[in-house]
Amino acid sequence: MDKKYVFAFEENKSTPETIMLLGNKGAQLAEMSHAGIPVPPGFTVTTEACNEYYEIGKKWPETLEEQVKEKLEELEKKMDKKLGAGENPLFVSVRSGSYVSMPGMMDTVLNLGMNDKSVESFAKAGGNERASWDSYRRFVQMYGDVVMGVEHAAFEKVLSTKKQEKDVKNDTELTTDDLKDVVEKFKKLIVNEKGEEFPQDPWKQLTQSIDAVFGSWNNTRAIKYRRINQLKNDAGTGVNVQAMVFGNMGDDSATGVGFTRNPATGEKTPYGEWLINAQGEDVVAGIRTPRPLSELKEVMPSVYEQLINYVDTLEKHYKEIQDYEFTVENGKLYILQTRNGKRTGLAAVKIAIDMVSEGLIDEKTAVTRVKPAQLDSLLHKQIDESSKSEDKVIAKGLPASPGAAVGHVVFTAEEAAEKNSDDYPVILVRKETSPEDIEGMDAAEGVLTSTGGMTSHAAVVMRGMGKSCVAGAGEIIINGKTKEFQVDDKTVKEGDLITLDGSTGEVFLGEMPTVDPEISGDFKTLMSWADNYRTIGVRTNADTPKDAQIALDFGAEGIGLTRTEHMFFEGERIKAVREMILAEDIEGRQKALDKLLPMQRKDFEGIFEVMTGKPVIIRLLDPPLHEFLPKTKKDMQGLADDLNVDISKIKELKDSLHEFNPMLGFRGCRLGVIYPEINKMQIKAIFEAALAVNESGKEALPEIEVPLVGNVNEFLAIKKIVDDVVKEMEIGDKVKYKVGTMIEVPRAALTIDEIVKEADFISFGTNDLTQMALGFSRDDAGKFIPKYIEEGIFKADPFQTIDQEGVGSLMKICVDKARSVKKDIDIGICGEHGGEPESVKFCYRIGLSNVSCSPYRVAIARLSAAQAAIEKE
Ligand code: ADP
Ligand code: MG
Ligand code: MG
Repeated sequence: MDKKYVFAFEENKSTPETIMLLGNKGAQLAEMSHAGIPVPPGFTVTTEACNEYYEIGKKWPETLEEQVKEKLEELEKKMDKKLGAGENPLFVSVRSGSYVSMPGMMDTVLNLGMNDKSVESFAKAGGNERASWDSYRRFVQMYGDVVMGVEHAAFEKVLSTKKQEKDVKNDTELTTDDLKDVVEKFKKLIVNEKGEEFPQDPWKQLTQSIDAVFGSWNNTRAIKYRRINQLKNDAGTGVNVQAMVFGNMGDDSATGVGFTRNPATGEKTPYGEWLINAQGEDVVAGIRTPRPLSELKEVMPSVYEQLINYVDTLEKHYKEIQDYEFTVENGKLYILQTRNGKRTGLAAVKIAIDMVSEGLIDEKTAVTRVKPAQLDSLLHKQIDESSKSEDKVIAKGLPASPGAAVGHVVFTAEEAAEKNSDDYPVILVRKETSPEDIEGMDAAEGVLTSTGGMTSHAAVVMRGMGKSCVAGAGEIIINGKTKEFQVDDKTVKEGDLITLDGSTGEVFLGEMPTVDPEISGDFKTLMSWADNYRTIGVRTNADTPKDAQIALDFGAEGIGLTRTEHMFFEGERIKAVREMILAEDIEGRQKALDKLLPMQRKDFEGIFEVMTGKPVIIRLLDPPLHEFLPKTKKDMQGLADDLNVDISKIKELKDSLHEFNPMLGFRGCRLGVIYPEINKMQIKAIFEAALAVNESGKEALPEIEVPLVGNVNEFLAIKKIVDDVVKEMEIGDKVKYKVGTMIEVPRAALTIDEIVKEADFISFGTNDLTQMALGFSRDDAGKFIPKYIEEGIFKADPFQTIDQEGVGSLMKICVDKARSVKKDIDIGICGEHGGEPESVKFCYRIGLSNVSCSPYRVAIARLSAAQAAIEKE
């Protein structure tokens, strides 16, 4: 038998397969037609037909025409009408619909079958001449636009001229004669623009509309939409041909859209909008202001009651919030579409919890109903969505750290630290940030940078602090001298107010209204359910007791990464650090290190106290030393004065430490191998802190981590320092500690069997591992990654989500090898990927013991991990 390309709605139900084959709209129309819902009948041309259409050079597959004809005849029989012909003609809509809804991206044609003759018959049969001409007017317009390619705006111009002429505001006020005139003008417009008549033949109208819908699968905006949302490019669109029902038949007719629950808050109250005497597109097109659903109850009480009953049935049937379309034709209600409703994070959590108490779903299903990334919006201040509009956006960068921030522009970290107050919040605007800026970043409400990517310094630090950051907004040009930045023709001066939306990357001029997050009991309930399914541990990356506490509150089970060097920048410490770097001999270095030791000890004590009884991974010094040296001449002079040396000496040292490729330079364990005394000081500080905390009745569980190991001998060199300190301090079993390493260098991943013989734990540092495996630095890759993604070379930014085929394979090899030597060894991840849902799921699948992420992403990681476990079942 020939391949079946066309199905009547009632021939199918909704299954994962039919959703792929018919598109979601088609599958749900099919499903509804079995569920006792009043759906106008029709048929669906499959996505397969669409795909073959493209394969054979934009031609219909051989038997398609025949099959469409056959189904049309069936439909005509069912309706007892003929398409665009006879005394009571049939009209249809031709609707696109892919496996996931792509709102507004593809095309739809309504009122198909209208022509000079059928418009008259329809007027007679329906008893409403005006409605008939209104429908014809709409069809010529839609057909002219979608199928024949005449600009939508050109039609709108004709229409608005007519309205002006008649001095009316709404098109509902145009008379039959007006509409007749508009139709004539539309037809002329088409001939003028295209040199071709608007076709009168319904069959031609139908086949060409199906063609146009196929074509809309590959229009630019649909392609873009799929790329941005990572949808399948080869899925194709279904084409639904459905008997028309008319919402524009007068005051007992209407059309509307709705949700079974409030998609913003999750409340179980009907929510939606409708228009009297209108057709589908009007509600969303914003031509007239739609009315809230509550008013339908007053105007058409029995229709309202039926509607609520039907959509309630739908929700119970799907066990999901439904987003539906309806039309009322002369008092009779039809449902035209239903799909699972998109909702905010807040609503997602509430609906999941409520549906469990209503007995619609179980706890496990509830855990799968919230997208982990959506939790972000629950934890951060947001811009009030209703206040947003395109024209207020002055620039767009990367959504580097979620949440909204309003503040006055400053251009240096010092000013940020100095000026920021409750009355005068600031936003730090910089080309990029560096570790030196940390204090200013901590003070600022948000950070905006003009270069740098999702894992730039600014992004990583601000995410860690849970504060808003927009990174890499390339359109803004900063002038530090005049203290202003330029974007297009606008100049923003120091002190001007701007608003950042770190969740979308938008930058607004002026102050935008914000709303506070609501962390409800529902959130906690959902997280506790998630933990019932989660098997992989979730830790946090935290450098301070304060961050550690925030992470604990979000459910962190330990610390997966404490970066010791962040502490080196604060206040007095940087002086001691610089003194150490400048020391000429080991004695001089030791003197400086002796100053640092008590400070480090205090830092560690604070963290151990908060994390009592939980493991804390502390990474030994990692960045190259030149990062700690002053950058400006003024600061260099200051340092020279402090240390009582000549500035030339500082410059000389700076030059000698200069590296062509610092990322691959003298850093990580390489520093410890050459200058063991630095690591020794840190290790001592860790044990002293642990002893003190244990004495106070709490329990410190330090895990000392060696960064950037590539060769087991490097690890052994540093481990020996630990052993020496342990002996020297007579630690014995007074402190339960571990020594392990980070896996960042590909060589370490490949020789892990050697390393784990010696290491107590390992943890993937996926930021560096990604850089080294891919061979480009994350600080520079921002220049081409967006283009790579646009061109489809990369599916996603490998610094945001693990490159599973590449870096991921390396990780998998490493995990398997490591576990073959030491089955139960702790394997973690502490790169930025540790809080990204897809990466967390990947880590679970390859058998990691735990993931670690910034405090504000702990909940996201917990939920992702639970979902990964449920997906595996
Ligand atoms: P989209 O996917 O962009 O929402 P649709 O195919 O759902 O496009 O159609 C656009 C509008 O036209 C919707 O409001 C829909 O309800 C309306 N519509 C589609 N088919 C019909 C029909 N057979 N009768 C009445 N209105 C229809
Ligand atoms: Mg729709
Ligand atoms: Mg690293």
